Amino acid sequence: NADAAMYFAKAKGRNNFQFFSPAMTAAATERMELERDLRGALAAGQYELHYQPQVCAKSGAVRGVEALIRWRHPERGLVPPLTFIPIAEETGAIEAIGAWVLEEACRQKAAWRAAGMPALRIAVNLSAQQLRSSTLVAQVRAAMEAYGIGPGELELEITESAAMEDPERAIGRLEALRGLGVELAIDDFGTGYSSLAYLKMLPIDTLKLDRAFVRDIETDENDAAISAATLALARNLGLKVVAEGVENEAQREFLSRHGCELLQGYLFGRPEPAAVWTERWQAAAPGTAG
Ligand code: C2E
Ligand code: MG
Ligand code: MG
Ligand code: MG
Repeated sequence: NADAAMYFAKAKGRNNFQFFSPAMTAAATERMELERDLRGALAAGQYELHYQPQVCAKSGAVRGVEALIRWRHPERGLVPPLTFIPIAEETGAIEAIGAWVLEEACRQKAAWRAAGMPALRIAVNLSAQQLRSSTLVAQVRAAMEAYGIGPGELELEITESAAMEDPERAIGRLEALRGLGVELAIDDFGTGYSSLAYLKMLPIDTLKLDRAFVRDIETDENDAAISAATLALARNLGLKVVAEGVENEAQREFLSRHGCELLQGYLFGRPEPAAVWTERWQAAAPGTAG
């Protein structure tokens, strides 16, 4: 942003006027290159979904997987979503990417089913812009029909801020999704600004306790208090909780003790390509078709 760059440069002093610092130029160049490359990425088949397990806190059994997008860039390698999703949101590319993610997750679920793999719920992230789109519900219905996805097999994750943007519209749209048998989760819960009064009105099934609260749950009293309160709140509202970012036994123990049913994090598995999951299942149950 040129105004900001100008202001920044001026703030450094009259005698040191420069429009862009080298670091800013590099960042701006990278951003332009990513934006340019994003335009052809979908058609070139450069996106892939990786799947991370959500496990039962009591038994450790895998209960579902979250689909997380990656961009296999020809020169940069695997680009994480936090690098390109914000750009895709600004440029509008997210609409087509989001539609692809939905379709691909449903396609993969059907492929796993056809191969006799365990029937796990798939969670898919929705961007704010998708929730704003009047075609979202039809899109989800079409993907479910095309791949025979039944009630409770697909969960959509939305952030508090996306749901808060236009609450009336969001509630209507979420109710329509639920009517299709889709489960709904609030992602990164606790990092947004949603009021509890409003939360009560949202037709949701799950809260995903943000990783920021889980990280220091054993050492930071505030994080422990927030996590415990979120779990108590969810229990009273009849909602499930998935804790994000569980990396060690102490966090697992704390969360289980406070009644968290579902856990997600590196302790149980990183996001991995569909093929890795398929191989794992085939190794566990030799003889299943692939
Ligand atoms: P999210 O939906 O909150 O996803 C969880 C993120 O935490 C993932 O990062 C995951 O790899 C990471 N994570 C999981 N367990 C651990 C852990 O134990 N420790 C640490 N340090 N991290 C953990 P990822 O895959 O880089 O995705 C980042 C964000 O990008 C997601 O956050 C989500 O907001 C967005 N995103 C990912 N895929 C999609 C997509 O298909 N569509 C949209 N709109 N957004 C997506
Ligand atoms: Mg998510
Ligand atoms: Mg999350
Ligand atoms: Mg998060």
